[in-house]
Amino acid sequence: MTSYKELGLVNTREMFKKAVAGGYAIPAFNFNTLEQMQAIIQAAVETKSPVIMQVSKGARNYANGTILRYMAQGAVEYAKELGCPNPQIVLHLDHGDTFELCKDCIDNGFSSVMIDGSSLPYEENIALTKKVVEYAHQHDVTVEAELGVLAGVEDEVSSAVSHYTKPEEVIDFSSRSGCDSLAISIGTSHGAYKFTPDQCKRDPKTGKLVPPPLAFDILHKIEAQLPGFPIVLHGSSSVPQDEVDTINAHGGKLPDAVGIPEEQLREASKSAVCKINIDSDSRLAMTAAIRKHFDEHPGDFDPRQYLKPARENMKKMYIHKIVEVLGSNDKL
Ligand SMILES: [Zn+2]
Repeated sequence: MTSYKELGLVNTREMFKKAVAGGYAIPAFNFNTLEQMQAIIQAAVETKSPVIMQVSKGARNYANGTILRYMAQGAVEYAKELGCPNPQIVLHLDHGDTFELCKDCIDNGFSSVMIDGSSLPYEENIALTKKVVEYAHQHDVTVEAELGVLAGVEDEVSSAVSHYTKPEEVIDFSSRSGCDSLAISIGTSHGAYKFTPDQCKRDPKTGKLVPPPLAFDILHKIEAQLPGFPIVLHGSSSVPQDEVDTINAHGGKLPDAVGIPEEQLREASKSAVCKINIDSDSRLAMTAAIRKHFDEHPGDFDPRQYLKPARENMKKMYIHKIVEVLGSNDKL
């Protein structure tokens, strides 16, 4: 058993309380490589932001759970080395699908876990979440649950259609499951293709797709039911069109990739939404920089030559999100 406290990590409890009260959201960036981790920590330290580093089951299999534990410890020490004496860093399991996986993460240094029972019948979702909460709270680990189903694909999590969260269920669900935060479905979606062209309008000037707006009416009803309770948005990449254009200009093929407009996420950050998940934008920033580099420097083959600009591009994106979208800067 390795407690996250030995690694210098924190759980989400205080962090979320401050974020809800302060009208901002904590960035939850997915990672599975050294360069992503370095870029996340550099961005968080430079902006004085708390940060959630999260890994899905697939990412944990890719990176290895033992290595991740030491990476998280390394992230804390790295933040201190960069001049942040008290970094607020969470290591979070994204989309845990079984009690056993959540337990394994809790036993190996995670400070927060998500148990995603959203595809189960309502009562089974409550029972599974409650089981994880009971174990997690014994170790002062916080638990995110999900109610409602998001469309799209995220590693092994996929669903063809979304089902918005029902506001009339959230009090019963949160009180009976004991979860610390709740991921809801209000129209965000996993992946770089959040909406089909049929679901969007097309901007006549640019030819780019304009996605449908988030269901803020549902968010506000949920907030009214559970005042001050931490709400989480998954699938909240914006799919920056300049990165998509760079990828496509340098041999890539991502036609009609589309995300959530940043002004909507900015608005959501001011509400009880206190954690916003961003994964695809990091993938796009990394891929765009690497494609461009290979195109312009076909003779390069030292990974540092192309991973360095990739890391810089991700860091720029992370800082932009923290300062311009979530508002979590200057909170340490
Ligand atoms: Zn998700």
